[in-house]
Amino acid sequence: MKTFFITGTDTGVGKTYTTLALGVLLKAAGHDVGVFKPVQSGVGDAEFLKDRLGIIDGLREINPFWAPEPLSPHLAFRRAGIKVLPGKILAAYHKIAVRHQIMLVEGAGGLLVPITRGYAMADLARDLDAELIIVARLGLGTINHTLLTVHEARRRGVRVAGVIFCDASGTRPGIPERTNPQAVREFSGVAVLGTVPFLKKTDAASVARCCRGRIDMAPLLSVTRPDAGKLVAMDKKYVWHPFTQMQDWLADVPDEPLVIDRGEGSYLVDTRGRRYLDATSSLWVTVHGHRKRELDEALKCQADKIAHSTMLGLSNTPAVVLAKKLVDIAPKGLAKVFYSDNGSTAVEIALKMSYQYWQNTGQKKKTALVHLANSYHGDTLGSVSVGGIALFHQVYRKLIFKTIRLETPDCYRAPAGKKYPDYAFEAVDRFEALLKKKHGQIASLVLEPVVQGAAGMIMWPRGVLKRFEELCRRHDVFLIADEVATGFGRTGTMFACEHEDVHPDFLCVAKGITGGYLPLAATLTTQRIFDGFLFPYKDMKTFFHGHTYTGNPLACAVAIANIDLFRKERLLARLQPKIRFLEKRLARLGEHPCVGDIRQRGFMVGIELVAERRTKKPFPWQDRVGARVCEAARPYGVLLRPLGNVIVLMPPLSMSRDELDAMVTALEKAIGDVLGPEIQL
Ligand SMILES: *Cc1c(COP(=O)(O)O)cnc(C)c1O
Repeated sequence: MKTFFITGTDTGVGKTYTTLALGVLLKAAGHDVGVFKPVQSGVGDAEFLKDRLGIIDGLREINPFWAPEPLSPHLAFRRAGIKVLPGKILAAYHKIAVRHQIMLVEGAGGLLVPITRGYAMADLARDLDAELIIVARLGLGTINHTLLTVHEARRRGVRVAGVIFCDASGTRPGIPERTNPQAVREFSGVAVLGTVPFLKKTDAASVARCCRGRIDMAPLLSVTRPDAGKLVAMDKKYVWHPFTQMQDWLADVPDEPLVIDRGEGSYLVDTRGRRYLDATSSLWVTVHGHRKRELDEALKCQADKIAHSTMLGLSNTPAVVLAKKLVDIAPKGLAKVFYSDNGSTAVEIALKMSYQYWQNTGQKKKTALVHLANSYHGDTLGSVSVGGIALFHQVYRKLIFKTIRLETPDCYRAPAGKKYPDYAFEAVDRFEALLKKKHGQIASLVLEPVVQGAAGMIMWPRGVLKRFEELCRRHDVFLIADEVATGFGRTGTMFACEHEDVHPDFLCVAKGITGGYLPLAATLTTQRIFDGFLFPYKDMKTFFHGHTYTGNPLACAVAIANIDLFRKERLLARLQPKIRFLEKRLARLGEHPCVGDIRQRGFMVGIELVAERRTKKPFPWQDRVGARVCEAARPYGVLLRPLGNVIVLMPPLSMSRDELDAMVTALEKAIGDVLGPEIQL
């Protein structure tokens, strides 16, 4: 099955004649051809093609949207009082596409012609997963128009199959007409497939006679992309997935695994064209939705300048601009930015810097790192050393270095005779006792402020973080805030530290920093720490650390655009009512007898499933209840990923109310399917 989208370099260049010629030649070669004219205003190309190509699909099927006035579609349909929805076009297309081997989709006008607000022909071509055929007029001026169309198609991720010229005038060719094809081939690098001659008669037999040998069909038919089934087989043969028992992955489940092909706002689209709400922001990274125009453009513009240069001994423009922006939005006191490329390294850098600071400044005994039980700071050995999740870390315990682990209370399951939130502060008291004895040996405390994400969305009561900060200050121990998950608006403020007016000595950021586009991380720190590394070179007190892709210009350019969008779209202000909406909407879910706890801070949600609500008895982990609920949500169009028996909801901050509602509805149904339909829907 192949789809070609036929667009023009302008209106009136001979698109319909070219579609006709292609249809006739493909049919003559024995292919079953279907045509689709998604939107039509004025003249009846759809009728013409249906008639000349002998298509049996109904006219309304071939052309779902028609308006009488020959105007740009966005205007013609508005004036005709017809609402054109891209989703409806796609549905109409898929209905007839299944009947044919090859689909010819004829656009209206050129590639950027708007169908509705924010949706142009180019977007449709991409969403149909079509290859583009550009029809160009012969004559002076065509080189520029054709190159612009090729350029824009590539920019928007539409594959160009080739250019076809169309002789719409039948007049004697001059120099431009004779040299156009060669020039376009040379300057665009795209295949020029031939020229449709001037057609005096348009019946199939005459067109076939006229066009035979004039258009090179081979490049159109030879390109093959692996189909959905083949991709699954190749994945299973060649790929090893993270945090995945590959034995389960390789199991022969029909339709599995899901392969994502593209994204769109809050949705992910798989290779079979199915759409899913991205309820965990592609593992907690997506901020403004997928394919956000401003981020796409920032990336593409930077790619036109340079993709990478090193930060070792050099600097680059986006990295410098971004550093200032990060310092501007970060909690006060953070003055310097050290880049890396993932959350684990952002934390390791903070650990090493905090340790080396004391070495550099002569307090050689301050070497211990303190971390909290149930913490997660990444998967490299250094970050595993300060991690507390046994399931992930147990097997490596002989490889990792010694740290001080601070026991922390379970905020959901209060010990006998204790009351929440008071007992949560016992962790702080333990820290204070530790500091009184050992502060002279402690370099830093590392923690995830407000929400311990990977532990199962454990949320600290208000005040705990502030007390940790005060104790660190009093005993001159550095506070490392790992905001890899909570940063960039996740909890409702730009950084979680802001909830309690906390000013850490180190701020580690990664996941949301590029809006979910590219791997980038930063460790921000204070002037004091920075100054602790300023010595003559021979003293060997340099911070000897740096990754090859540190400060990558592409990633930094997108991160700049990401931060700008927060201001431009007043994102955090507009997020607040959506946070309240989500909270209200989730309350109903809490009535299910297996929903033990619903924890929410902003757009970070953990829903803990339990065997019995009263006793809070957990499901045995072997039952994989969390995973099964997430699997059950797929047929309802939502992609989830659990943490044990905690269902995580981490929607992109851009997710609309309707989408939030649909996400929770799907989760309710999935829980009902797996654990019994106890909720009244
Ligand atoms: C995800 C995460 C990390 C690790 O980030 P990677 O980019 O996966 O290395 C570290 N800390 C926290 C709090 C995280 O959520």
